[in-house]
Amino acid sequence: MKRVLVTGAGGFIGHHLVNYLVDHGYWVRGVDIKRPEYAETRAHEFELLDLRRWANCLQATRGIDEVHNLAANMGGIGFIESYKAEIMHDNVLINIHMLEAARLHGVQRYLYTSSACVYPGYRQESPDVAPLKEEDAYPADPEDGYGWEKLYSERQCRHYTEDYGLETRVVRFHNIYGPLGTYDGGREKSPAALCRKIALAEDGGEIEVWGDGNQTRSYCYIDDCVEGIHRLMRSEHREPLNVGSDRLVTINELVDIVARAAGKTVTRRHDLTKPQGVRGRNSDNSRVRAVLGWEPATELEVGLDRTYGWIQSQLEAAGKLDRGPVAVV
Ligand code: NAD
Repeated sequence: MKRVLVTGAGGFIGHHLVNYLVDHGYWVRGVDIKRPEYAETRAHEFELLDLRRWANCLQATRGIDEVHNLAANMGGIGFIESYKAEIMHDNVLINIHMLEAARLHGVQRYLYTSSACVYPGYRQESPDVAPLKEEDAYPADPEDGYGWEKLYSERQCRHYTEDYGLETRVVRFHNIYGPLGTYDGGREKSPAALCRKIALAEDGGEIEVWGDGNQTRSYCYIDDCVEGIHRLMRSEHREPLNVGSDRLVTINELVDIVARAAGKTVTRRHDLTKPQGVRGRNSDNSRVRAVLGWEPATELEVGLDRTYGWIQSQLEAAGKLDRGPVAVV
């Protein structure tokens, strides 16, 4: 039985990945600074450790064959634009220490979870953006703060492979969404935030949308994401690889899909002062299709329907759906 570590196992993707790996016969240790918020972990062992600290990274990697390093201080665009120093500080420390601890403990394979935020701003200036190929990451001009750390850590992985022979795998996620993801508190991303706003709005009410809503993105459902991670870990592909959807939608379209899932009509109030990130971003899936035979299987409408249902039930359980506010921000 392979012994694997999932860091960030108290977070959204990490929690789902633990379930996937347990179901596929792995022995799993989960590590995080917090336990999963919305469901019990199924990891065989779960340790609360701050992975910015070197000694904790050594403890986390003891007796481990493969590391999936998902721990990161992160959030949606509002969060990553506001806490750049903290994000770079924490995430550089986590990845530098985790890589070195993995090397010292003779770990066989190491996954680093990078992001579409590594892609340069100059390729994402229009809503009808050309899908981003892996090689487009250079010449570098990533998202300030969060994206620079991701690009730096990608290279650190490459050098650990070249200099020490540690097998590293790097995945670039494009907007992963689904149930059990953060939906309030300031770290939530657009699909979860819109589900929450629409669940809280009355039928016929108004919701706030950041920017003019014509900015575009693609969204990948969590079940497809963990399948992609697993295939990448089992492959011999050493270069960074996109895992995302290549169906481009505007934020306004995203609102309409969530509203349909909710069975509500809502009007949008666009707040142009709020951060909205790049103008357009899409994943080119040619390489991931060729290398892993992977494609996102879950239609956006289906995934958002499940996500909306889960967020609505959370709000209901918390007694937040009784007030019926007209304008929700
Ligand atoms: P998440 O915030 O739900 O999970 C990250 C987890 O890391 C959290 O549970 C957090 O407590 C933990 N963590 C933070 N600091 C820590 C520390 N010092 N020590 C130990 N644990 C710590 O985020 P997620 O969406 O599950 O993202 C997982 C990984 O995927 C991250 O590396 C993230 O940057 C990357 N990623 C995610 C997306 C996405 O759309 N969700 C997109 C691109 C990249």
